[in-house]
Amino acid sequence: MSQTTKTKPVHRKVLDDARQIELATRMIRCGARLQVLEAETSLSYDRLSHLYHEIRGCSPSKGLLPFSESWYLSWRANLHASLFYSLFVAIEKARPNLPEVECLIRAYQLYEGNEIACEGGERKEPYLTFTRAWMLVRFVRRADALKLSHCQDCGIGFLTHTHTHGLTLRCAVCNPPPRALPALRGGSIDTPHDLSLHHAAA
Ligand SMILES: [Zn+2]
Repeated sequence: MSQTTKTKPVHRKVLDDARQIELATRMIRCGARLQVLEAETSLSYDRLSHLYHEIRGCSPSKGLLPFSESWYLSWRANLHASLFYSLFVAIEKARPNLPEVECLIRAYQLYEGNEIACEGGERKEPYLTFTRAWMLVRFVRRADALKLSHCQDCGIGFLTHTHTHGLTLRCAVCNPPPRALPALRGGSIDTPHDLSLHHAAA
């Protein structure tokens, strides 16, 4: 009996460690930066750095995290970020017991899968990186700097500043900047596929 009580905490620690490594591995495969991994797991910098190198075959970037919410409001970034955030909210609503980071990973995998499919199966980094997606959730949830508004024309959810109000809110597809019109009509611009379909059906 004494042996059982002694080994239990050790088992728990090993299991928890395995879960943390699995979580970090999934985030690294999505393209997460080291700062994100440190914030979302209890693993040390050195272990995360080694894990990153083992999975990606290179050292993690040492640059700063993207820090401005304004990036998400430029036309093309807003299309991609709004699609990702709408997926994130839908997953959270469907699975309220899932931790936030799990919803984030699942939403990002859906967004990323959509982007890869649009590129004919060729893998390249999506316009919205995992780190940007992670920062976006923080800008909405922690900093209260951005929110999901609804387009008055098509009804789709899209990201705006928190303090944007009024009845004249129009999304990036219903109200594109003039410079984007020729490319948008010609289909040569890099827009998220699902969003284009949504608007085509609206
Ligand atoms: Zn719209």
